[in-house]
Amino acid sequence: MKSIKIAIDGPASSGKSTVAKIIAKNLGYTYLDTGAMYRSAAYLALQNGLTDQDVPAILKVLAENPISFGKAKDGTQTVVVGGKDISLAIRQNDVTNNVSWVSAIPEVRRELVAQQQRIAEGGAIIMDGRDIGTVVLPNAELKIFLIASVEERAERRFKENQEKGIPTDLETLKKEIAERDYKDSHREVSPLKPAEDAIVFDTTGIDIDGVVSFISEKAKKIIDSK
Ligand code: C5P
Repeated sequence: MKSIKIAIDGPASSGKSTVAKIIAKNLGYTYLDTGAMYRSAAYLALQNGLTDQDVPAILKVLAENPISFGKAKDGTQTVVVGGKDISLAIRQNDVTNNVSWVSAIPEVRRELVAQQQRIAEGGAIIMDGRDIGTVVLPNAELKIFLIASVEERAERRFKENQEKGIPTDLETLKKEIAERDYKDSHREVSPLKPAEDAIVFDTTGIDIDGVVSFISEKAKKIIDSK
């Protein structure tokens, strides 16, 4: 069976990673969470007290602390940076609220995009992020752009955070999500936007299974036709 590359983009908490993980498992594909890589860069910047004025130092800590992915005992993906499991740390509010300025640095993007493209070389990959269809995998056979209302996305993230034990206030979350969307869509380099050939899918009111079947059907058609 031929394998393909699948790009899933969309704003914060649009369900990209949840559905991408399920589809990767069903197809036996590699899943790459590119948001986790930008979060790792933000984590390293914060840990080292760096700001957007310290680009060379951010690149240095990134080079000294390679980002890799592992597997926890329960099968979930872990994020390892410089040998340390930072899967939980990168989901905390300080990282979430600082990731947009780090991901807007062109040199950081250049480095992480190169890493993402190397991981995708073998095909059979599903990647989620903001610029996968436009920049990282412009030749992906399937490009999906997921959207959903801010209210619904905030409620989804609120539940996720509760499950992870991360203290959150729903109204604050709504504001933060809208702010992150704005920053990610208005930055100069690789702003969040659908690729011209992406299928835009509004998931408001649609559950995970619904989104998974929508994307899986599209993927199956492409794989079968190859
Ligand atoms: O997907 P997630 O919400 O974890 O992404 C965190 C942040 O990383 C985004 O708000 C965005 O600033 C950045 N990001 C990006 N390009 C990607 C993936 C994430 O700029 N491909």
